[in-house]
Amino acid sequence: MSQQHFDLIAIGGGSGGLAIAEKAAQLGQRVALVESGRLGGTCVNAGCVPKKVMWYAANLVSAVADAPGFGIRAEGGTLDWAHLVEGRNRYVAMINDYWDGYARDQGITRIEGRAAFVDARTIAVGDAHYSADHIVIATGGRPIVPRLPGAELGITSDGFFALSEQPRRVAIIGAGYIGVELAGVLRAFGSEVTVVALEDRLLFQFDPLISATLAENMAMQGIESRLEFAVAALERSDQGIAMLAQSGERLDGFDCVIWAVGRAPNSRELNLEAAGVEVQPNGIIPTDAFQNTNVPGIYALGDVAGRELLTPVAIAAGRRLGERLFNGKTDLCLDYTNIPTVVFAHPPLGKVGLTEPEARERFGDTLTIYETSFTPMRYALSNHGYKTAMKLVCAGPEERVVGIHLIGDGIDEMLQGFAVAVKMGATKADLDNTVPIHPCSAEELVTLKTPVRRPGA
Ligand SMILES: Cc1cc2nc3c(=O)[nH]c(=O)nc-3n(C[C@H](O)[C@H](O)[C@H](O)COP(=O)(O)OP(=O)(O)OC[C@H]3O[C@@H](n4cnc5c(N)ncnc54)[C@H](O)[C@@H]3O)c2cc1C
Repeated sequence: MSQQHFDLIAIGGGSGGLAIAEKAAQLGQRVALVESGRLGGTCVNAGCVPKKVMWYAANLVSAVADAPGFGIRAEGGTLDWAHLVEGRNRYVAMINDYWDGYARDQGITRIEGRAAFVDARTIAVGDAHYSADHIVIATGGRPIVPRLPGAELGITSDGFFALSEQPRRVAIIGAGYIGVELAGVLRAFGSEVTVVALEDRLLFQFDPLISATLAENMAMQGIESRLEFAVAALERSDQGIAMLAQSGERLDGFDCVIWAVGRAPNSRELNLEAAGVEVQPNGIIPTDAFQNTNVPGIYALGDVAGRELLTPVAIAAGRRLGERLFNGKTDLCLDYTNIPTVVFAHPPLGKVGLTEPEARERFGDTLTIYETSFTPMRYALSNHGYKTAMKLVCAGPEERVVGIHLIGDGIDEMLQGFAVAVKMGATKADLDNTVPIHPCSAEELVTLKTPVRRPGA
């Protein structure tokens, strides 16, 4: 059988695969990209992009609700779901088309189908075989549906994006970022929403101040949260779908249940054994700092490598790998510390660096903590107001800022610049030396005065 040979094959045409393929092609390599679905991967097709469109729509609904307070006669604030979904899908299709054209223009050979390894240098896609000096696994992940009785009655985030009608009574299982984001969107559109979670707080990977403020904001919106609720089964009932907890508790009457309990890496179908690539029992392909797997010439990046599951992380790792392999930058790799991230709740929240508990583990009793909490001016003339909260975690006598935690209107755009400062090693004094911008919420971050906790306290 004749087989085409490339300098590099990327398996997966999502954020990471596209990034490495693009970089390698720009550096003059012969590149193939294998994708079984539409170019753009999870982010474009069932993640960041369609989610953010829904988030903007939800913000508009609540802006209309607030308009009368400002003397603006606005009516409605209700949603035409089909219209929104049609527009969103059109937007996503436009990005798919962009990537199709771009990959072609870069001279990347597109291979459609599912790839599996034949040996350490060869993959099969259908009946065809392709070989390469370098093979990059960037196959991302998929939503987890636990093996519980009736689990199939629930959908996942993929199913959410496929809904043709707005669900009216929704249960979301999981209070990680996807659960929180979908809850906020659906509630803003008028659905009744209950979020259940195993943990004793929402978004438990975030700083406790953020979890607590998020809980307040979500309660204000009318989202019901049921914490320490371990789902044991789903079942059909006269009223719709019921959720049974291990404790025996039962919540009933949902017309839609969404599993948002995490994502599993797409590694099982790759026939990794044929190439000798090590894989963890949970499906993550372990890599070193340079995205090398245990097999020379085979790399893994993005969600399948299991570190910081975010689009810009997959892209940054892909670009650096390309520079390292094909542009002589032999020491280049992604620094996985201080990666900022935002959760598009209503209002949004985000973090960069260490939470207070993480910092305490790392730096012991040297922390100085600054905090504030207020209702921003955005709600000056509204009869409600979602809370903004901010925390600076500073370490050592020099008060180096090792963590920034924010929730509130506008923080999604605010955090990026502060992440630069943290990455550069900013201290509290550096923030204090920055003239604030007034009037806006961001100024609070550079004017925090009295610590709420000091070393030794
Ligand atoms: C609901 C949701 C919201 C999100 N929101 C955000 C956000 O706001 N910001 C953010 O930074 N991140 C967000 N993410 C995470 C982000 O989408 C992922 O971190 C990112 O897409 C990972 O990129 P990747 O290249 O590793 O994988 P993916 O983008 O998942 O791409 C992997 C590709 O590989 C293909 N593939 C898999 N197996 C094979 C095979 N055997 N052969 C050929 N092709 C294969 C798949 O079809 C897929 O297209 C969100 C995710 C979800 C689910």
